[in-house]
Amino acid sequence: MEIFKFGGASVKDADGVRNVAKVLHRVGYDHTLIVLSAMGKMTNAFESLVTAYMQKETTFNILRDEIETFHKSIVDSLFAKQHEVRRAVDVIFSELDDFLNTQNSEDYDFIYDQVVSRAELLSTKIVSAYLNEQGIENTWLDVRDLIKTNNVYRGAEVDWKLTNQAIVSHIDPNVLYITQGFIGRNEEGYTTTLGREGSDYSAGIFAYSLDATSLTIWKDVEGVLNADPRYFNDAQLLKQISYTEAIELAFYGASVIHPKTIQPLQKKEIPLYVKSFIEPTNQGTVVTRGSKIDPLLPCFIVKKDQLLVSISTLDFSFIMEQNISDIFNYFHAYKIKVNLIQNSAISFSVCIEDKYNQFNTLLPLLQKEFLVKVFSGATLLTIRHFTPDSLAFIEENNTVLLKQSTQETVQMVVQ
Ligand code: ADP
Ligand code: ASP
Ligand code: MG
Repeated sequence: MEIFKFGGASVKDADGVRNVAKVLHRVGYDHTLIVLSAMGKMTNAFESLVTAYMQKETTFNILRDEIETFHKSIVDSLFAKQHEVRRAVDVIFSELDDFLNTQNSEDYDFIYDQVVSRAELLSTKIVSAYLNEQGIENTWLDVRDLIKTNNVYRGAEVDWKLTNQAIVSHIDPNVLYITQGFIGRNEEGYTTTLGREGSDYSAGIFAYSLDATSLTIWKDVEGVLNADPRYFNDAQLLKQISYTEAIELAFYGASVIHPKTIQPLQKKEIPLYVKSFIEPTNQGTVVTRGSKIDPLLPCFIVKKDQLLVSISTLDFSFIMEQNISDIFNYFHAYKIKVNLIQNSAISFSVCIEDKYNQFNTLLPLLQKEFLVKVFSGATLLTIRHFTPDSLAFIEENNTVLLKQSTQETVQMVVQ
């Protein structure tokens, strides 16, 4: 079997949905399972809805209606007035309203998963119906019946054994399925999510469990480039990269592939193709076993919205193991991601990411024990396979606050 994953950018509007049908007609879809993300920026829109709901903001109704209007205008553009998909869309919205009107949990992450997951249900319902209309006969599948997770909302861990069993016993290779990424279900029967951008990972899980011949991720870019084209004008295509190199790039933040996606593929040596949904017959990038990276180019990775935090003891004594251990326990407890560490005798600097907006709660606790300096709005720049020229290019164009280097990789926190 083959697994295809179409991301949010591929279905950001009605023309995007039409293009998915074109891609499938063009490249074929025999023995294929399709994992599809939420449309466009709908996950972000649902996230804002959750925040408005939790904080009882007056914008809640506006946001909810905007989300409904967005989906319904795509439906209007793709389907006839009486098409049955309208009912499916209405059901998702009325179930959302029922949930929010009757639930009484205070658990942000639990509510987030129950709400945000509906973006994937909506997109898959709409696209599945459209493909059926276009003669691409397919079956809509609720992925939550297959992806079994623990109950850590917003960052659920997959139960591989149960998931594997469910996938192997449910999936008929002769049926074209359209299903969701990013979401699963826990033992209590509630929806969970696997972390932002998690649908690449879902596709990787299917590829692994079904011993797929390949996984193709369809993107709005030519493939994996040596830099994010949003920040670098002359980013170049990497034709081939090894699994290890892909893991490294994803680890440092190359947002084109979700970091967890590669490992299941690597275990079974399933090739990953990253291709353009605009030019679907172009070669794109293949991630496979073999040579590290072809062509060998410096790869630039940009992570924005970083905090550079420098911590020293109040009495300027040395920062010792115990201090470092205490600091890390705090970061762990407050779900703060540490992207870079540097220590000297009396200070300890970390470049961190505050994804869950917890740092402001943690800061006063740290300040009780340490002198803490915070620089917000920093960017972490990584160059894999750096050269003197690539390094000079970054250093000439940025104010470097902190720099760290290994043989292959240089990282800089810049202003
Ligand atoms: P989707 O969610 O639709 O699958 P994403 O937006 O998550 O797609 O990923 C595609 C985007 O990743 C590109 O538009 C590009 O801006 C960004 N990107 C970041 N790093 C790279 C890279 N090294 N190569 C290609 N694209 C990259
Ligand atoms: N829709 C989810 C997100 O935007 C998952 C994904 O697209 O990968 O994070
Ligand atoms: Mg994505």
